[in-house]
This record gives sequence, C-alpha cells and structure tokens, in this order.
Amino acid sequence: MESCSSSSLYPSFVKDNLQHVENPEIQFSHVNHGEDQELQLFDFDSVKMATNNFSVWNRIGEGGFGIVYKGDLSSGQAIAVKRLSRTSGQGMTEFKNEIILISKLQHRNLVKLVGVCIEGEEKLLLYEYLSNKSLDKFLFDPTKRAKLDWTTRFRIIEGVACGLLYLHRDSRLRIIHRDLKTSNILLDEEMNPKISDFGMARIFGVKQDLANTNRVVGTYGYMAPEYALEGIFSEKSDVFSFGIMLLEIVSGVKNSSFCHEEHLSLLGYAWQLWNSGKGMQLIDQTIVNSCHPNEALRCIHIGLLCVQDYAVDRPTMSKVVFMLSNDTSDLTPPKMPLYIRGMNHINLSSFVSDVNSINECSITVIESR
Ligand code: ATP
Repeated sequence: MESCSSSSLYPSFVKDNLQHVENPEIQFSHVNHGEDQELQLFDFDSVKMATNNFSVWNRIGEGGFGIVYKGDLSSGQAIAVKRLSRTSGQGMTEFKNEIILISKLQHRNLVKLVGVCIEGEEKLLLYEYLSNKSLDKFLFDPTKRAKLDWTTRFRIIEGVACGLLYLHRDSRLRIIHRDLKTSNILLDEEMNPKISDFGMARIFGVKQDLANTNRVVGTYGYMAPEYALEGIFSEKSDVFSFGIMLLEIVSGVKNSSFCHEEHLSLLGYAWQLWNSGKGMQLIDQTIVNSCHPNEALRCIHIGLLCVQDYAVDRPTMSKVVFMLSNDTSDLTPPKMPLYIRGMNHINLSSFVSDVNSINECSITVIESR
C-alpha cells in the first residue's frame, strides 16, 4: 500500500476574503486574483460562460446544495460547479463552512476547491472536475459495477482511509466530516478517490474528543448510533460511516436499500456471514473472481470493527490505515451489532443514557435500518 502523505496550507488570500464571506451583508467583489492563488473569486458571467449558461447538457448531478454542472474555464481547466439553490435546505452556513474548511486543506484524497462566486443571490462553488464522478454511480449500477474490480475497490478503500486520517489527525485542523457516503467519494480518471462535501464538517480543538448537536445532519444509512440518537459526533462517528462504506464497497450493496429475508441490516448480514466463516459470500459476485480472499476477508473484518455499536470499541483511522496495510497484524474479533435483527428487538435505553433526548429525526433514521 502507498503511504498516506499530506500537506496543509492557509492561503492568506483566503483568510482575507473569508472575513467578507463571514458577513453575508458584504458582497464579494469581482476580483480575479490570478493563476498563482489557491482559491480564486470568479464573476458570475465567467461561470455562466464556462457552463454554457448552465445548460441542461452540462448538468452532472444534484444534491442537497443544488444542481452540479460541468464547466470549462478559459484556461482549459475542467471544473464542477455547484450552484446553491434558493430552495436548498443547506444555506449560507454550509456554503461558508465548505469554503473555510476546504481552502485550508490539501491532500491527494480530498477534492480541491478551485474557486467561489458570490454575486447578488448567486452562490457557487467551483471544484476540480473528477471525470468518473462519484463512487455510488459505479457501485450501485449493475452495468458499471464490474468496472470496479477488486484491486480498484481496495485502492479506493485505502485512499478514503488516508483522506480521512488526514482530516482527523494530519491536517493542521482536526476535522470531523459528518457526511461520509459513497456519493461524497469522487473518482478521478484513474479511479483515485477524493473525499468531497465539507458543508457539514466541523473543526475540533486539539484536545476535543467529541461534540454534541441538536441538529443531527447526515445521511440515512451512514450515521453512527450515538450521533443519530444523541447528536454526539466525534472521529468515531466518521469511522462508523467509513465502515458502512467499506462494507458497501466490498458487497456492492447499498446499506439503506438492503433487503434480506431475515430482515437483517447490511451490517447484521455481514456480521453473520463473517462470524459463520462465510465472509466470501458477502463479496460482490460480479468481482469475486478478481479478489484476493485474504484481503477481502480482512476488509470485511475491518469494516465490522468500524461499525461496532459503541464508539469506544471502534478503531481510530490511524489504526484502520495500519490494519489495511499490514496483512499480518492480528485483528480483534468484532462485537455482534446490537440491532442485528432490527430495532424491535432492542432496548433503546440500554444504548443511550437519556432516551428523552432522542429526537424524532434520529428515531426515524434508526428504525428504518
Ligand atoms: P447530498 O448533497 O445530499 O449529500 P450528493 O453528495 O450526491 O448529495 P453533491 O455533492 O451536490 O450531492 O453532488 C451531486 C453529484 O454531482 C455527485 O454525486 C457527483 O456525481 C457529481 N459531482 C459533484 N462534484 C463533482 C466533481 N467535483 N466532479 C465531478 N462530479 C461531481
């Protein structure tokens, strides 16, 4: 495995301009800061031109933020433009968050923000264009999933682990992503993965281990139980989401739409197969012939360690990276998931300290598993 490398930067230009972004009353000026800057300010007309006036033919996706377009800058660089929709649930807060965070980060497994545009009502984020778009588009498409052979899948798992380790430990900030999922993993032309979407991310202090929020944001199927139930997030809630993604990557099955005759969730199903020595049955049958059984079983094992119910039992990302790259290291056995057969069989009060603090949104998330 290639080692995880990293570097950080704080462009002074970004610092200066973020003071304006922090105050939505102050408009960005139409300034182009030149090619040598890490983050550029674009005027709306140049973004319009780059995207053929936001033509439907340039449309490449849509998320909570708004529509995403492909564009070509006059320099020849291909970009992806996210245009904040006026009806978007994600507003100025997430927009600012994304700019503040991502402009301070640089790693080969994180998507690069090329620039921003704020003009009147228009708010746009311009990223490097990743020609293979997002991982979900391959993984959950029966006609495309075979393109992700085992070697590619393993490389994607390693790359995402390195990107996440950088966020948690190696960058000058400690960042909890809070919305890791396959649609937020973008793939370049060589299928190298890049983590995207920092709208929900939070910066932690050096000595801070966890935080609590009344506003549980994230995506159904990927949220750690303590986050969905109590609003507690930490490095370990990201590790849980990573574990779900890992199981999705090896199985080719989407956790949120997983359906099994015994009503198991994907992680319950994975645990049962692994525990009864049938782990290879979890591997996506379209690529099973290209896979190295030891590597595949090790991945499932690591995935199961990451999705353990209690945050304290889950490994850190540095441990995950170590376990992925050292096939001789001993792994502890993962604990059986509490909600292996669905929430009806669980006493929630044994799981959270204050059941009254559970909000409706969280319960919906957990019940639907
Ligand atoms: P949500 O916003 O609900 O989390 P999402 O992650 O799918 O959902 P976006 O991040 O807005 O939403 O992205 C929508 C889609 O646009 C992605 O799934 C991806 O296919 C495509 N996309 C986003 N950014 C890029 C990029 N830099 N290069 C290529 N395609 C991209």
